[in-house]
Amino acid sequence: MKIAVYSCREDETALFEKYGKEYGAELSISSLPPIPETAHFARGCDAVNIITTPVGRELIDIWHGYGVKAIATRTVGYEHVDHEYARSLGISVSNVSYTPHTVAEYTVMAMLMSIRKMKAILTRYVGQDFSLREIRGKELCNMTVGVIGTGKIGETVIKNLSGFGCRILAYDVHEKDGLRGLAEYCGLDALYRESDLITLHTPALPDTCGMINRDSIASMKDGVILINMARGILVNTADLIEALESGKVAAAALDVIEGESSIYYKDFKYRPVGHHEMAILQAMPNVIMTPHTAFFTDEAVGDMVRYSIEHCVKAGTAAPNN
Ligand code: NAD
Repeated sequence: MKIAVYSCREDETALFEKYGKEYGAELSISSLPPIPETAHFARGCDAVNIITTPVGRELIDIWHGYGVKAIATRTVGYEHVDHEYARSLGISVSNVSYTPHTVAEYTVMAMLMSIRKMKAILTRYVGQDFSLREIRGKELCNMTVGVIGTGKIGETVIKNLSGFGCRILAYDVHEKDGLRGLAEYCGLDALYRESDLITLHTPALPDTCGMINRDSIASMKDGVILINMARGILVNTADLIEALESGKVAAAALDVIEGESSIYYKDFKYRPVGHHEMAILQAMPNVIMTPHTAFFTDEAVGDMVRYSIEHCVKAGTAAPNN
């Protein structure tokens, strides 16, 4: 089994070497992203291992021509891969799962930072402004938190929040009986109407993309706080900016944003980013933005590398279209 590993970061190299040996796979490791210009890198390989770079038909066709049988993405989400097309060619597409605690803990941190106005406090401290103007916060124990999506991460967020004493509302298309003592499942309208703070934990699907938009925001409480650690496309960014400017949304914490894929994980210190909405949000004192780092812990990165190699190796020995 030979695997072409794309977009390998320095912090992943030792892990790839370790798990490559463990699974008996020969790895061809590159820091370059998977794009048509680097497709040749997978020549002679049975599988490719990628991260967040979008992979479309052109690239898949080239890899198919080389005899690639599996695409393994080291991410939970896999919407960046044209997986239906790949599968139609008999190429399996797999994602990974890793400890939900990494994103769940980050989410609770983002909630607390938002309600305690931590961006303004930290920024002002740097300028030696130690005054108390505009930084008085609220207590989570007195708030109603709405959790949209109670899968692995949403469930863990609810469990983590249970010690804070807040009221927790939850919405999911599949309700979990095990969460009933900790959260009250309700309809999306009721969750929007009653929550002081709303956190998103659904995948990007046709019915979730753009679910946070001008209309849904209008049905929320005045001064609601929005947390998005899931996928940028769930939120209509222009509508969120409008709501932050009007004060309808009091604060936001965004680990993800529409149009991030060509920007995040790159260094733009000396060149323009060219994402206007990102620049507007970044300049707001009540918006915390992080570059899709909620997953980034020792434990999660180890799981991502390990399980993506395991999937490649399994796909190499399994029937196509799995
Ligand atoms: P999961 O598959 O375990 O859970 C997703 C949940 O969403 C499921 O319970 C599903 O029933 C629910 N759902 C689907 N459609 C829905 C709808 N229309 N309305 C309400 N709920 C719906 O996924 P997970 O591992 O908990 O991941 C959740 C999200 O977090 C995903 O978008 C994932 O891409 C994102 N994520 C982000 C990071 C990061 O670093 N920021 C890391 C990992 C995962």
